[in-house]
Amino acid sequence: MRVTFLGTGGAGGVPRFGCACPACQRAKAESRYIRRPCSALIEDGKQKILLDAGLMDLHDRFEPGELCAIVLTHYHADHVQGLLHLRWGKGSPIPVYAPPDQEGFTDLFKHPGILDIRSLTAFEALELGDFSLTPLPLNHSKLTFGYAIAHRNGARFAYLTDTLGLPQDSDHFLKQWGANDIAVDCSHPPAAPSGKPLRNHNDVPAALDIIQRSGACRGWLTHLSHETDCWLMDNPGALPGSTTAAMDGQVVDLASDHSP
Ligand SMILES: [Zn+2]
Ligand SMILES: [Zn+2]
Ligand SMILES: [Zn+2]
Repeated sequence: MRVTFLGTGGAGGVPRFGCACPACQRAKAESRYIRRPCSALIEDGKQKILLDAGLMDLHDRFEPGELCAIVLTHYHADHVQGLLHLRWGKGSPIPVYAPPDQEGFTDLFKHPGILDIRSLTAFEALELGDFSLTPLPLNHSKLTFGYAIAHRNGARFAYLTDTLGLPQDSDHFLKQWGANDIAVDCSHPPAAPSGKPLRNHNDVPAALDIIQRSGACRGWLTHLSHETDCWLMDNPGALPGSTTAAMDGQVVDLASDHSP
C-alpha cells in the first residue's frame, strides 16, 4: 500500500497570500516547501482512492476512471473545493463517500454532476477492493471523520484531519487497532501566540500526543500552517525521530506485514 501526500497545508496554504514570514518566503523561493490543500492518495497497484478533494486541479491530475472513489473527511471548503469543478466533467459517475452531514456543501448537493455522493456511518467500515476504511469521528467545527485504513496485505494507515485531540471512542479504537503509520492534523505551533485555548485543530503537542497514544510506528504531520512551518524552522530536531512533517508530493510505502 502506498500513500502520497498530495497536499499538506491548512486553509490558506503556504505561502499564504500577502505574507512575508520566513516560511512563506521559503516556499516562494523553493517550490518543494509549498503546502497545498490537505489531501492524500492511497493506492495498491490496482486501485486509487483520493482522501479529500481540496486541490483545484483534480480534473487535470486524474484521468476518467482512474480513481475508484473519493473519500471526504468533512465539507469545509479546503477539503472539497476541487469537486466544484470536477463535477461538471464527463464519463462514469465518481463515488464520493463522506460523513452524513446534512448541511455539508449545499451547492454540491444541489448540483452533483458526475459525483455520486454517499454518506458513511461512524465505525462502519467501507470496503473498496482490498481496502477497508473505518470512519472515526474527530473533534472539529463540522461533522468530521478520520479514517483507519487497512489493506488486505496487512498494512494499516490512519488519516486524522481536521481535529483537536480525539473523541474517546476514536482514541480507543485506534489503540486496539494498531496502525503502522498515522497522519495527524498539526495546524498550530505549540502554545498559540494569542494565548487563547485551542479550537478545532491540533498544535504540535496535541498532534504528538495522538501519535504516541495510537502506538503507531511512524507519525506524519499534515494540515500544517505557515506558523507551524516557522516554528519547525526555528526548532529543528524538535520532533521525535519517528515523526515527520510531511511534504507535498511525499510518497510513503507501507510495510505489508502488520504486527501490533
Ligand atoms: Zn482543513
Ligand atoms: Zn507566512
Ligand atoms: Zn476543517
